[in-house]
Amino acid sequence: MSLPDSELPRTEDEWRVRLSPEEFRVLREHGTEPAWTGEYVDTRTPGMYRCRACGVELYPSDTKFDSHCGWPSFDDAIPGAIKEVEDNSLGMRRTEIRCARCDSHLGHVFHGEGFTPKDTRHCVNSLSIRLDPSTA
Ligand SMILES: [Zn+2]
Repeated sequence: MSLPDSELPRTEDEWRVRLSPEEFRVLREHGTEPAWTGEYVDTRTPGMYRCRACGVELYPSDTKFDSHCGWPSFDDAIPGAIKEVEDNSLGMRRTEIRCARCDSHLGHVFHGEGFTPKDTRHCVNSLSIRLDPSTA
């Protein structure tokens, strides 16, 4: 479920009480979960992946693919759901992806790797998303 705008936290302290310590570290402090440890790495269940912080829809399960990189990977997102931010941390030039609604960290996006016809890999922490299984 998506949080109503009126309940969306406005400060990091408000986020801290809503999220588990692990979720807070990844979503609000731009952490990364260790490879292969996330609950959605190999998930094939149909449904909708939502932002774990605010609940907004981010990735339909049919955009998920097996990248063997150790994190859930998607080749596309719901239009407008994601925003990209330049990230030059760790001596690398990468593009961070965040939830466009609540500004929570999701992971990074990579292009030109040739995994899928869209040639895009959204490398997302399982802790940043929650699968809403399809009931169809
Ligand atoms: Zn969000």
